[in-house]
Amino acid sequence: MQRYDSIVIGGGPGGYACALRLAKNNKKTLIIEKSQIGGTCLNRGCIPTKALLGSASAVHTLSRGEEFGFTVANTTIDYAAAHTRSRNIVLKLVKGAQKTLKSRGVDVIYDSASFVAQKVLTTGKHGKFEANDIVIATGTRPIELPIFANLSSTILYPDDALAMTTVPKSVIIVGAGAIGIEFAYLWGIYGSEVTLVEMENRILPSFDADVSALIEKELKKIGVSVYTGTKVEAARKTKEGINITTANESDSSCFEAETLLLSAGIRPNTYNLGLEQAGVLLNDGNYIKVNSEMLTNVPGIYAVGDVNGLLTLAHVADAQGIVAADSICKIKTHTINYLHIPKCVYCNPEVAMVGKTEEQCIQSDGNNIEVSKRYFSANGKALGAGESDGFIKMIVNKNSKELLGAHIVGAHASELITQCTLLMQYEITAEEIDSIVFPHPSLSEIIMDSLKRF
Ligand SMILES: Cc1cc2nc3c(=O)[nH]c(=O)nc-3n(C[C@H](O)[C@H](O)[C@H](O)COP(=O)(O)OP(=O)(O)OC[C@H]3O[C@@H](n4cnc5c(N)ncnc54)[C@H](O)[C@@H]3O)c2cc1C
Repeated sequence: MQRYDSIVIGGGPGGYACALRLAKNNKKTLIIEKSQIGGTCLNRGCIPTKALLGSASAVHTLSRGEEFGFTVANTTIDYAAAHTRSRNIVLKLVKGAQKTLKSRGVDVIYDSASFVAQKVLTTGKHGKFEANDIVIATGTRPIELPIFANLSSTILYPDDALAMTTVPKSVIIVGAGAIGIEFAYLWGIYGSEVTLVEMENRILPSFDADVSALIEKELKKIGVSVYTGTKVEAARKTKEGINITTANESDSSCFEAETLLLSAGIRPNTYNLGLEQAGVLLNDGNYIKVNSEMLTNVPGIYAVGDVNGLLTLAHVADAQGIVAADSICKIKTHTINYLHIPKCVYCNPEVAMVGKTEEQCIQSDGNNIEVSKRYFSANGKALGAGESDGFIKMIVNKNSKELLGAHIVGAHASELITQCTLLMQYEITAEEIDSIVFPHPSLSEIIMDSLKRF
C-alpha cells in the first residue's frame, strides 16, 4: 500500500486547485484521475464550448461586413476547422495543467479510485493507497430522462455534441439553461435549424426575467425557435432522425429534427465510489453532504466541486478546492458566500449575474428596493465596437444603497460582472461609487452610470 498525506480523487478544477494548494503547504499529494486532468471543465465543458463560441462570434461579425465597412469575397465557413481549433486549445490547456502539477510536486496517476475503508482507496491497476485526508472531486454527469431511454443512440449529450465535427442540419435542444442556450446560439449561427424546448415558463430560468426575455429575442433573431412552458411527453426515432411530442398549458405539438441534444440537468458521480465503505453521507439528490469547510460527515474526508451540489460551476469548484486544502492544512481560510458567485452564459450578447434576481429581491426586501437599468446603446465604447445590444440592471436596498443584484446582458458581460462582484463582496454602496473613477470610453461606465442613478 502506498501512503500520501493527501489524496484527491478527480483532476477537474476542484481537485486540481485543491491538490496545488495542498502541495504548496508541503503535503505529499496524489491526484487519482480516471480520464484527463482538467475534468469536465477543460475537456468537455467550459473551454471547448467557449472556443467554439469564439469561432461563432467571428462568423457572426463576418455577417456584419456592410455595417463595419468591409467585404470578404468567397468566404467559407468551416465548422470542422473551428472544432480542430477548440480541441487544440483544450490540448494546450491540459498540457499546461499537467506541467504545473508536475512542477509543483503533485503526483498524478490515471486510474479509477474507490474507497475500501475510511482512509484507504483501491484503484484498477495501481493497487491501494492510504492517506490522512482524502478529497472527493469526482464531478457530475448529464442527467438521463426515462422518456429518451430507448433512444440513446439517436440523442446527444453535451459530450457528444462537443465531439461532432459537423453541425446538425436540424436539432431539438431540450433544456434552456446555460448549456442549452450556448449550443442554441452556436448551432444557430452555423446555420442549423434549432428548436429550443424548455419546461419552465422562460429560458434561463435561474436568471433575471428581463435577461431571459432579451436572450429569447436575440436567439429568435438568428432563427432559433423557442418554446417555453413546454414539456416533452413522448419521443420516437424516425427515418430522418427524431420526433417528439410536447405539451404546454393549452395544446400539444410535434417537432422533428435530425437529432436532439438533452441538456436538462446533471447528477453527481457518487456511485461506484465505495462511499458506503467510508461511511460518507449523501443528501436527497445523492450529492455529498459537506459543511462550509467542505468536510463530509467523516473526519478527514472532504468533497469539493460539482459532487457536493452546492453550486455547480467551475470557479466554485476551484474556490471550494482551496477552502478544503486550507482546512486540511489548518490554515485560516474564508467562507464562500454563494450569493456573491457570478454566473455567466457565453452566447452573444453574453449574460452575467451576481446576487439576487429582481424577483428574489422583492421576496427578501419587499418594497425596500430600487432598480436602475442602463442600455449598452447609450455607451460610446459599445457603439464604437458595434456591440450596442443589451443592458445592465442593478438592484439596491433603498436605505443602505447596498447592491443586492447585478444583471448584465451585453458585450463582455462575463468580464464586467467581476466589478459588481467586488462591490457586493466589499459592501461598497451606490453612494460610494462616486469616489471611484472609471476610464472613458469604457463599457465599465455602464456600471458607474447605473449606480449613480440611486
Ligand atoms: C458543456 C458544458 C459547459 C460548461 N460551461 C461552464 C462554464 O462556462 N463555466 C462554468 O463555471 N462551468 C461550466 N460547466 C460546468 C463545469 O464544467 C463544472 O462545474 C466543473 O467542471 C466542475 O468541476 P469538478 O472539479 O467538480 O468536476 P469535473 O470537472 O467534472 O472533474 C471531475 C473529474 O473526476 C474524475 N473522476 C470521476 N470519478 C472518478 C473516480 N472514481 N476515480 C478517479 N477519477 C474520477 C473525472 O474523470 C473528472 O475528470 C460546463 C459544463 C458543461 C458540461
